Amino acid sequence: MERSSTAGPVQIVSITDDHKFVLDEKKLKEILYHKRAQGKKISLVSIAGDFRKGKSFMLDFFLRYLRAKDHKEWMGKENEPLKGFDWRGGAGRHTTGMLMWSEPFLMSLPSGEEIAVLLMDTQGTFDSNSTVFENAFIFALTLLVSSVTVYNIMHNLQEDNLQHLSFFAEYGVLALDAYHTSPFQQLTFLVRDWQFEYETPYGFEGGEDILSDRLQIRANQHRDLELVRSRLRQCFRKVNCFLMPHPGLKVTNRRDFDGRLGDIEKDFKAQLNAFVPELFRSDNVNFVKEINGEFITSTQLFEYFRSYCAVFASGELPSPKAMLEATAEANNLAAKAVSKEFYIRAMEQHCGGDRPYIHPNQLDVLHQEVRRQSFEKFRCARKMGGEQMSQNYQQELDNEIFELYVNFKKHNDSKNVFAFSRTPTTFILSMIL
Ligand code: GDP
Ligand code: MG
Repeated sequence: MERSSTAGPVQIVSITDDHKFVLDEKKLKEILYHKRAQGKKISLVSIAGDFRKGKSFMLDFFLRYLRAKDHKEWMGKENEPLKGFDWRGGAGRHTTGMLMWSEPFLMSLPSGEEIAVLLMDTQGTFDSNSTVFENAFIFALTLLVSSVTVYNIMHNLQEDNLQHLSFFAEYGVLALDAYHTSPFQQLTFLVRDWQFEYETPYGFEGGEDILSDRLQIRANQHRDLELVRSRLRQCFRKVNCFLMPHPGLKVTNRRDFDGRLGDIEKDFKAQLNAFVPELFRSDNVNFVKEINGEFITSTQLFEYFRSYCAVFASGELPSPKAMLEATAEANNLAAKAVSKEFYIRAMEQHCGGDRPYIHPNQLDVLHQEVRRQSFEKFRCARKMGGEQMSQNYQQELDNEIFELYVNFKKHNDSKNVFAFSRTPTTFILSMIL
């Protein structure tokens, strides 16, 4: 796969010292509007969980897999340092927030259709000053925008890991009731440094045993967790779990360890080889991002990012109901963005920069027809939030299209002036030269 030398992790969401979330729209747009991703369905694979638990390290293996020409020999050379997302914590304060790989990767679905694959790293906070909200926010946004979320945990799958999910279960139930489709796609628990291999083997099978055990409802358990336990498998289309061995003492203890395979335990590499290709299977129906039962493109994803961040801007985790509302808003915004894009593209084909001047009446007829088609597109998109919300957004779409039309008109008129002045200009130029 072609790749530029400047590819790297890009911070798209950061958290300020006074605990505010800032979405870097410009940087996110550069990634999501990348020409390689244009118009394509997407997959967003993210990793979330506590700080310093090997998340970025794991992501760098995802990168290797995505870059490999041959998916049988993807892991790389024995003595090659592991690069990409920065995985060596170091002494300084780690940046909190979300980082996305600067370039989408291309993968083919079984049908031959190409999709754009995006990778996202998240950094939780680890200092005592930070609020629970920061972690909850990062986790919430990750689950909402990703098709596959890897929830990275150390040693074992425990009560508090499930506790983190109770908010989402509640939101999920609301969404299921309202729209009859589960709001989240795949959640993969990745247990690192699994120590009880003699009881439960590494890999997805052992993981399934642990997961079923933890999701069982027993008499003496915390009531709060009952909803999570009973609904988790409903709210997520797919929940699975993978048990990963310890990577070996060279990885955890040696200061000069640079990520080379030669220093990593055999067991770990064997399981990596089982885990990564399975996670990126393009025939997994949950791999491709869907919202409200529709595949979305990267430009639509951009709108979802914006809306969700706006909802979280208050500094409090919204209620599940407010979340649902936000999803519906985002849904309409995304549909509007697609319809608007359609209008721009269609108009540019006929009267864009390189097209000749056309008569204003003809331009108006063209505008009316493209506007009609754009509305049609908006109306056909499956939207949440009901008729009233959809009408408001259609009105906005109409206003924006009108503004665009005014600009197209102006531009067209300027070509006309140019047509008149061309002869004298060329004439004068030929005199001078
Ligand atoms: P992150 O903060 O979760 O992104 O963690 P990093 O990927 O930066 O890794 C933190 C440290 O954990 C590094 O020194 C890695 O070498 C080490 N590490 C990577 N994978 C594992 C693992 O599976 N188990 C353990 N115990 N350490 C790991
Ligand atoms: Mg990290």
